Formats: sequence, structure tokens, C-alpha cells
Amino acid sequence: MFDLGLINGKIYRNAQFTHLDVYIEKDKIAEIISPDKKLDCKKTMDCSGKLIMPGFIDPHVHINLDLGEFKTSDDYESASKAAAFGGITTFIDFLEPINSVDEFDEKLQKKHKEAETSYIDYSFHTTVGNFKDDVGKLVETSFKNGIPSIKLFTTYSESNRRCSYGKIKEFIENSSLTDSLILIHAENDEIILNTNVDDETAVYESSRPAKSEIEEIEKLAQIVSELRGKIYIVHVTCGSSIELLREKYSQLLQNNLFIESCPQYFYLNKEIYESDSGRLYLLAPPLRSRDEQEKLKKNIASVNTIGTDHAPFTKEEKLRYNKASQVPKGLGSLEYSFSLMYNLFRESIIAKYTINPAIIHNLFPKKGIIQEGADADLVIFDPDKELIIDSGQSKSDYSAYEGIKIKGAVESTILRGQFIVENRKFIGTIKGQFIKRK
Ligand SMILES: [Zn+2]
Repeated sequence: MFDLGLINGKIYRNAQFTHLDVYIEKDKIAEIISPDKKLDCKKTMDCSGKLIMPGFIDPHVHINLDLGEFKTSDDYESASKAAAFGGITTFIDFLEPINSVDEFDEKLQKKHKEAETSYIDYSFHTTVGNFKDDVGKLVETSFKNGIPSIKLFTTYSESNRRCSYGKIKEFIENSSLTDSLILIHAENDEIILNTNVDDETAVYESSRPAKSEIEEIEKLAQIVSELRGKIYIVHVTCGSSIELLREKYSQLLQNNLFIESCPQYFYLNKEIYESDSGRLYLLAPPLRSRDEQEKLKKNIASVNTIGTDHAPFTKEEKLRYNKASQVPKGLGSLEYSFSLMYNLFRESIIAKYTINPAIIHNLFPKKGIIQEGADADLVIFDPDKELIIDSGQSKSDYSAYEGIKIKGAVESTILRGQFIVENRKFIGTIKGQFIKRK
């Protein structure tokens, strides 16, 4: 007798949908068989007309991010609830930046404590600022704690978060010896420091211009082609960045260099900064031109993963100050991330939320795939349901996508065999777990 059977739906396997039934025993997928034969279950859900996909993975979220005067709106409870309504069953947050190995443990313990209220599974990336310590020792320490990924910045020298090129090379070299992944926030610091732009929302994009991303990515691709290693560029905003990689560094793509992008760069562009509510859309890197947005869409096939870079604030916080530099940067996208992107790209987007992030971030084959023995993390999706986006479950009181009409909605989300959301109603009896990645 199985615990749960999802019958008469179409399941996502090998990049296509097939009419198959899924049976779950305890926390695992136990049996996948033809719908002709029905097996005994304690509970059965009829999924006729629905799509069943692996639970989505968001590899880039910021929860309880503390910027001094401002703190992002969502804690683990509200963020994981919003995520679950969006079909996300695992997300990866970032430890606060460190400059030496001895700071690691305190940052890790702090996150473990915060994450105790999560309804979905989670992991972390280690983050470094102006790191001056032993690279090998940090990678090893992080690894031992189930975190085979280190994030660094090529910018933000003003807040001492910029990592030197010497250290970046050490991290990349090290990643070719170990199995770690180096995540990079790629914007050229010199270009940003030398722009002479007014501190106004209307011209904010010019203060961190497209070329600062494109040139920095080219520089990093050059380093990786010499040293090998594995890097992952977070939140790529420009289609031109991807075109450059495809033209000059295609041998690195899929092997040594991975590309993440976010829904906001596909849905919004910098013209919104000229509107009265422009400050609500400030984030770093900025929204780009319509032309870059179109190019990004055209190059979607080269994007490996979609992360949200979830970092919402309230309207009052976003509008408290007039100067662009004083506005807290970030948007919330967790709840509608998949529906938004499915609406643009249909089935071709699914791998970027499932098997790709699972493989790249060492969660595979526990997560990211529907197969016997994998965690029973599943999304039941209605491809025909129409939905108008609202502020949703997040503690922020607005969404950057509010009012957008989309087709396709998450109906139910299952984590390790238990419903977190069932027919759009929150159940949430299961607790999220820290997933040790290796
Ligand atoms: Zn981020």
C-alpha cells in the first residue's frame, strides 16, 4: 500500500510530458507506471489535465538580508510559504560575506538558526567579500559543511565586498581541483566608479551600465579559459553578455561557465525608472534597455538556471528616500517566478527550474527529477488556469509584476511526500531540512 498516488496526470521526464502515474511511499518516489494499472494507496489525487513536475529549485534567494537601516521583508517562514505557492521545494540562500575563514562558522550557525522556520528544503552558498585568507582552507571548510559553492563579487569596493583578481584566480584554480563551484556577481567596478551620472532613479541604469556587465563577463571568461575551473555567473541581465560568450567562448558553456538569469530581466526594462514609481523597481544589477531584454529572450537556450535573487522590501521602504543610492535594492519574485517564465517560454523553461539547478548545485539525483528513489518533491500545475499577479504571500506589500495576466498556475506542492500547498490552500505541516550538498 502506497502513501500517495498522483494519477491520470502527465509527468515531466526526459524533457517531455508522458501519461504516467506516480506513487509515493514515505518521502520518496516509489513507483512510476502506466495509468492502465492502478495501485492501492492511502490517498489518491486525480491529476487529469494537470502537469506534474519535479519540485522547483531556486538557487538564488536572500532571506533576512540585513542592509543596516533596511532588512528584506521576508524571513524563512514567509519566504518559504511564498516559494511553496510557486512550486519551489528547495531554495539556496547566501551566508553573509566573510573576509577570513574564522568568520565562517558564526555566519553558518546564524543561517541555520534563521532557517529553522522554513517550510521547504534549503541550502546555502558561502559568500566572500574582500577575502584575504587561505582559499583552499575556506573551500574545504565550506565543503565539509555541505556547501560546495562560494560566491564572490567583482564590485562593491565601497563596502569592502570586492574580491581582488588575485583571489578570484585562486578560487577558480581551486575549483578545478576540487568539485566546488564559484558563483560570481559580475559587474566591472572601475566602469561603475567612473560613471558620472546623477543620483536619480530615472538614470540609475547608466550608473551601473550594461557594458560593466558585458566587459566583466568577458574578463572572467578569459580567466576561466586559461585556468579551467567552474564558474557560475549570477543574475545575468544582458542578452549581449550571452551573445559574446556564445561567439567567443562557446567551448566553456555547459562545462566551465554557467549562466543564471532572473524573471525581472525578462519582464521589466529600464523605461520604468522614468515613471513616478520607478524607485519600487530599483535593484542591482539594474533593469536594462528594451533591446537587451529582447536579446535576453532570444538567447534563453543558453541560460542554465533561473534564480529569483529574491530580496523584497516594502513600498514605504523603497519610497522613503529620493536619491537612488539611498533606496534599498532588490525585488521579490519567489511566488510567481515559474508561472511568469512558463508563460513566456512554456515547456522549454522547466529544466532551468529542475534538473539543471539540481546538477549544477549538487542536489541531483535527490532533487530535480521524477524517478524512483528521488525525494518526492512534486508540483501539480494547471497549464490552463489564468491568473492575475498580486502581492501574494510575501511580507512585502507589493509585487513588481502586479496586474500582469498569465496563463498557468501551481495548484499543489509536495515536499518529501507531504503537501505544503494542496489545491491552492496552505497545509504546511512538514518542516524544511538543510540539504547537505556534495
Ligand atoms: Zn543576489
